[in-house]
Amino acid sequence: MEFQFDLFVIGAGSGGVRAARMAATEGAKVAVAEKQALGGTCVNVGCVPKKLFVYGAHISEEVEAAKGFGWTINDVTFDWPTLRDNKTKEIERLNGIYEDLLKNSGVELVVGEAKVISPHEVQVAGVVYSAKNILVATGSTPYIPEFPGSQHAIDSNQFFYMETLPKKAIIVGGGYIAVEFAGILNGFGVETHLIYRGPLFLRGFDTDIREFVKAELIKKGIHLHFETNIQEITRADSGVLTAHIDGTSIDADLVLYATGRRALIDNLGLDAVGVKLQENDFIKVDDYYQTSVPSIYACGDVVGRMQLTPVALAEGMAIVDNLIKGHKRKVDYSNIATAVFCQPNIGTVGLSAEDAERQFPGDITIFASEFKHLKHTLSGLSERTYMKLVVQTSTDKVLGAHMVGSDAGEVVQGLAIALKCGATKAQFDSTIGIHPTAAEEFVTMRTPVKS
Ligand code: NDP
Repeated sequence: MEFQFDLFVIGAGSGGVRAARMAATEGAKVAVAEKQALGGTCVNVGCVPKKLFVYGAHISEEVEAAKGFGWTINDVTFDWPTLRDNKTKEIERLNGIYEDLLKNSGVELVVGEAKVISPHEVQVAGVVYSAKNILVATGSTPYIPEFPGSQHAIDSNQFFYMETLPKKAIIVGGGYIAVEFAGILNGFGVETHLIYRGPLFLRGFDTDIREFVKAELIKKGIHLHFETNIQEITRADSGVLTAHIDGTSIDADLVLYATGRRALIDNLGLDAVGVKLQENDFIKVDDYYQTSVPSIYACGDVVGRMQLTPVALAEGMAIVDNLIKGHKRKVDYSNIATAVFCQPNIGTVGLSAEDAERQFPGDITIFASEFKHLKHTLSGLSERTYMKLVVQTSTDKVLGAHMVGSDAGEVVQGLAIALKCGATKAQFDSTIGIHPTAAEEFVTMRTPVKS
């Protein structure tokens, strides 16, 4: 059977664009359909604008720190619309770059909402396109649970375009987005309350890291409310929102829900063609991203493995290697480094102490270091840095490296290579540090804190 395209990609986000470009570069005939701005969550309402806001928020601390270094900075003010609109201009520039990348690699861009109408056909704006393979890379979208007054809450997508900066805000959730946005709002001088239903936020991260971040966020003035949940939100005529919480209440100008994300599969027609979903409604795929319909593949957030841009890119490239180059390659999900851009940042790779102990009971040694960053000896800020190595005692292999401190993501990215190579603690110890840096502490921890 003759098809118009070798690969028809639905969704021009991180995974979709990478797969489309790589496939076209290999000589495949490729189309990508997108109904919104190019670049997906990461570029438009995720990683990129979020990191720009984190930089913006951090400037308040730099201004505070400046005094200790002899600077006098008067009349410090922050203008939210300026930052928001500058951010939007940069995002629009990136949208253009994505369009150029697709066009220059020979990918046909189809604008509109796509619907899969058969295992080899996609319909967009009334036109039917046939393809040997279809790749669903439609991503995910924030999820707000339904409860009385939940319509008064906003999600992270809306946050990026807020008209005004609130004076007082409530953030609900204890994951990446809640913790990062709490740091952003607090940095802009907003009275920030973070409400989390469990005993300690950032479930799944190393416990010492979670405790350390908790202490740092409290020092920075963020109000943490754990084992707490909102039952109802009411809105007064003045616009003030009241969050009703276990017999008490908090008033705020903004309530942001960061309670996870759901797969973006609405109106895609997947059910009708037989694409099966997992219990949590993310698309079910095998190790090679093939869905229950052999000609249809899926990758990125929509398959719900690790909702991270570099993971979507890796999955998209594996699909192209397998479909176009005839390989049989899986993505290795071990030792994927990640950062939470709260203030100070978390950088982490490999196993938490708890997961390591579960996998290798009685065979784990922990090294840790907590200190005041050199900069803060003069900055006057009370921020501290924490680093931790999780080592398998019998093999001396470093199983996990974790950090809370400035630029933790930058530091841990390098360590991720060492862990990927199976580095031992002895190899860490034989590495000569760069002085004076915070990162050198990772190669100078000699005495275990626990074994
Ligand atoms: P997460 O899944 O990380 O966290 C969701 C949080 O909301 C959890 O703390 C969860 O609690 C809580 N929660 C879930 N449902 C409810 C509910 N009904 N009521 C109250 N609380 C609830 O989601 P995020 O939205 O923070 O982020 C989504 C994903 O996006 C992340 O997992 C990550 O993969 C990615 N991301 C990555 C970033 C980065 O790399 N820096 C930045 C931002 C996002 P509990 O722990 O009890 O389940």
